[in-house]
Amino acid sequence: MPVSTNGYPRRRGRAGYPARYSAAALLGRGLTHRPWPPAWRSHPLKSSYDVVIVGGGVHGLAAAYYLAANHGITDVAVLDKGYMGSGGSGRNTAILRSNYLTPEGVRFYDRSVQLYQRLATDLDYNVMFSQRGHLTLAHNDTSLRTMRWRAEVNKAEGVDSEVIGTDEIRRLAPFLDLTQEARYPVLGALYHPPGGIIRHDAVVWGYARGASARGVHIHQDTEVTGIDVADGRVRAVRTARGDIATRTVLNATAGWSTLIADMAGVRLPVTTYPLQAAVTEPVKPFLSTVIVSGTLHVYVSQTDRGELVFGASVDPFTSYSSRGSLEFIEGLAGNVLQLMPALSKVRLLRQWAGLCDMTPDFSPIMGMTTVAGFLVDVGWGTYGFKAGPVSGEAMAQCIASGRPPGIIAAFGLERFAAGALVGEKGAAAVGH
Ligand SMILES: Cc1cc2nc3c(=O)[nH]c(=O)nc-3n(C[C@H](O)[C@H](O)[C@H](O)COP(=O)(O)OP(=O)(O)OC[C@H]3O[C@@H](n4cnc5c(N)ncnc54)[C@H](O)[C@@H]3O)c2cc1C
Repeated sequence: MPVSTNGYPRRRGRAGYPARYSAAALLGRGLTHRPWPPAWRSHPLKSSYDVVIVGGGVHGLAAAYYLAANHGITDVAVLDKGYMGSGGSGRNTAILRSNYLTPEGVRFYDRSVQLYQRLATDLDYNVMFSQRGHLTLAHNDTSLRTMRWRAEVNKAEGVDSEVIGTDEIRRLAPFLDLTQEARYPVLGALYHPPGGIIRHDAVVWGYARGASARGVHIHQDTEVTGIDVADGRVRAVRTARGDIATRTVLNATAGWSTLIADMAGVRLPVTTYPLQAAVTEPVKPFLSTVIVSGTLHVYVSQTDRGELVFGASVDPFTSYSSRGSLEFIEGLAGNVLQLMPALSKVRLLRQWAGLCDMTPDFSPIMGMTTVAGFLVDVGWGTYGFKAGPVSGEAMAQCIASGRPPGIIAAFGLERFAAGALVGEKGAAAVGH
C-alpha cells in the first residue's frame, strides 16, 4: 500500500487503521456517526520479540516509534504494568525548554524541542505545543550569575536565551509582584522564548498510535517480574502474563528503573523521590509565559483552558508513593502568593504526585550497560518529559546500530565511575 510522508497508509478502507485525524474526517464521522477506531491495536503477547521495551511512558513509546519509523525495526513490544502514560508521562506539568547549563545538555534538549516542533505533523496528532516563552526569575546575585552563564552557553549553542531586567519582566508577566517590598525581590530573569507547554497525554497517545500503526505491539497491564541473563547477555523477560525470549531490553521505567535494573544485575546511581503538582479552577487567560522561581521552589503556567498549573521541587524524602500531601499544598500556595498576590481568591481544583528518578548530576543515564542487550534510558528526574523525542530517537539509533550516538555520548552509565559528571543542577532543580 502506498505510504504518505508521515508513514501512514495513503488509502484506508472503511475500517481503515489508523484513522486520519483531519477536519474532513471529523466532519465525515460526525455526519455518519461512524465510530473512530482505537488509536492503537491490541495483540496477543508473543513468546519472542526482537526488542522488548519496559515502560509505556513517553520514553519507551518514542523509542518504539523511532525504531519502526527510522530503522524499520518493528518486532518490538512495549510493556507497561499499568496503562500507557500511567507514570510520570501522564502526571507532569508539560513544560518544554532547552535553556540548560552544560553544552551537552543544551544540544540534547534543543534537538528535542526541534522534534517537538514538528511532532504534530509527524504523528498526525495535535500535541498542542505552545511556545509561549519561559522565564526563570533571579532573586539574588548568585542566581543572576548562573543565569548569565546559562544564557552565554545557550547562545553559543544557538539557543535563544537572554537575561532581562524587571521592566521587561513586567511587560511579559504584569501580575508578578516586582516590588522591592516582596520577601524575595526579583532582580532579573532568564528569558527563553522557545520554551512553553504541550499536551502531555496527546504526546503519549500520538507516539503509541504511530508505533502501533508501524507494527509495534503495545501491551498494557503487563508487569515485568524478572529478566533472564546468561553468560553476560539478556535472554528473556519474565512478565505476569508469560515469558518473552529476547536479546534486547530497554529499561524506560523512570521512577521504577532501579527495580528493573536490579532484575538484570545492573546497579544504577538513581534515587526515587515523589514530585507533586496542583491545578486551579480555570480563570481568564492572563499569563502567557511559564514562570519559574528556584528560590521559592515554585513554577506556574496557564493552560489553554485557563487553569493555573503549579509545580515545585521533589518531596524531601525517598518513596514510591504517589499520594499528595497537605504540607505540600500549603507550602506551594504560600510561595505562589509571594509571586502573584492577586491569586489569593483562586481555588485549587486538585493535586497529584508522580515518581522521579534522580541522578547525582541531574543528567540522564542512557545507552549500554555491562549486561549485553540490556540498555537504559533513565535518570529523568523532574525534567524528562521534554526529552522524550530526542531520547526515543537516540535510543532507537543505539539499538539499531549497537552504539550510542554522539548526542548522548556524555550520558553513559560509565561516567559515574570515571568521574565525568554532566552537572545540570543549576538548570534542572526546579525549572522542569
Ligand atoms: C508532578 C510532575 C511534574 C513534572 N513536570 C515536568 C515538566 O514540566 N517537564 C518535564 O520535562 N518533565 C516533567 N516531569 C518529569 C517527567 O514526567 C518524567 O521525567 C518523564 O515523564 C519520564 O518519562 P518515562 O517515559 O521515562 O517514564 P514514565 O512516564 O514514568 O513511564 C514509566 C512506566 O514504566 C512502567 N513500569 C514500571 N515498572 C514496571 C514493570 N515492572 N513492568 C512494566 N512496566 C513498568 C510504569 O507503569 C510507567 O508507566 C514531571 C514529573 C512529575 C511527577
